[in-house]
Amino acid sequence: MACRAVKVTRPPLMAVSEARAISQRDLPKLGSEWVLLAHANNRVLASVPLAKLTQPPFPASAMDGYALRAEDLSSGTGELEVVGESAAGHGYHQPIASGTCVRIFTGAPVPQHADTIAIQENATPLANRRVKIDKAEQPGRYIRPAGGDFQLNQELLATGTRLTPQNLALLAAAGHQHVEVRQRPLVAIISTGDELVPVGTVPDKDQIISSNATGVVARIEAAGGTPLDLGIVADEPVALESAFEQALNAGAQLVLTLGGASAGDHDLVRPVFEGMGGQLDLYRIAMRPGKPFMVGRLAGDAGELRLLGLPGNPVSSLVCTKLFAEPIISALMGATYSDGKMWGTLAQPLGANDEREDYSRCLVTALPSGSWSVTPFAKQDSSLLHIAAASNALLCRPVHQRALSEGDAIQFMFW
Ligand code: AMP
Ligand code: MG
Repeated sequence: MACRAVKVTRPPLMAVSEARAISQRDLPKLGSEWVLLAHANNRVLASVPLAKLTQPPFPASAMDGYALRAEDLSSGTGELEVVGESAAGHGYHQPIASGTCVRIFTGAPVPQHADTIAIQENATPLANRRVKIDKAEQPGRYIRPAGGDFQLNQELLATGTRLTPQNLALLAAAGHQHVEVRQRPLVAIISTGDELVPVGTVPDKDQIISSNATGVVARIEAAGGTPLDLGIVADEPVALESAFEQALNAGAQLVLTLGGASAGDHDLVRPVFEGMGGQLDLYRIAMRPGKPFMVGRLAGDAGELRLLGLPGNPVSSLVCTKLFAEPIISALMGATYSDGKMWGTLAQPLGANDEREDYSRCLVTALPSGSWSVTPFAKQDSSLLHIAAASNALLCRPVHQRALSEGDAIQFMFW
């Protein structure tokens, strides 16, 4: 008997940019907390810190040498009497008279009436506390003016800044010990699949190690979130529902499910999430890797939980975390976000792209010309972790991009 083909209508593929916009819609901004500078690296500034002091607090020498009055050396060289010493932490606190100078060291206060430093390489010490200056400098040379770095009450950094080690050093120098930063988003991670066993165990027949969360947790941490790894959940609706409840009860703002996002019999994220009253915004995106994908929201007592339902293939999980979870983490903290796309030069030809945006694993190296050389790996299956591990970037291709030749410009983003 002839079988009649059943036509399955599937929702159209959604553009990555649109999916990203939907996933970030109506996100709340988290509250703030004060933390020690020592714990503030990569945190996001919640208020503008003002300088509590002026730096340098006094005109300071930038070199080891002699602090003198330039007018005493109008001919360019000359001999001066050395009347004292100014070292860092031990200044010379009398004004200097004409014809005299002070031995001075880097960071030391420049005595009053001195306006120039002659560096020690250009000076010859003589007997009887005298020195011969072999080459005079322009007035003001090698003197760091008071307040040359920052002034009392100066605005040091803008809110939304993701604090770098340089920022932290500035805050410390300006008299701060603590800084007000946004709370870290709590990101729950649920690994789904009957085939999964925990890291550190030996898989039985038909089993594999649940590796995705290990990489995803590391990315969440680096992005400034606090990961809450809820472990492995079997392909079993009650277990998945209870994991979502754990995420809600913990007060997570975001939950990532890894796996179970397709439309197969064992893909339970969608039915369970909807069964709990969750609202799903999209289901398939025009992206490779990562077509099965969900964005959803679920109200709980502790606030709204946003869902990113990511595909279980290991590389897809990581790429989707980078493209979708990281901007959400930034938005929850009110931080400026850039996906860091750059232009490079393709090292080998590529065929035309299809209807999905492509994020291929590639190796990017710096060229002496100042450009980046971008070499995609031949194998791109989204299960291949050894290729992902060997790559340092994702090559980015728009939908239906024409075939490219070696030497063509190509966009990429470092992992
Ligand atoms: P799924 O999205 O659940 O259909 O899974 C797609 C593929 O990814 C399957 O081969 C799974 O075995 C694999 N997979 C799913 N979850 C994980 C995980 N946590 N770690 C490693 N592989 C996984
Ligand atoms: Mg599965």
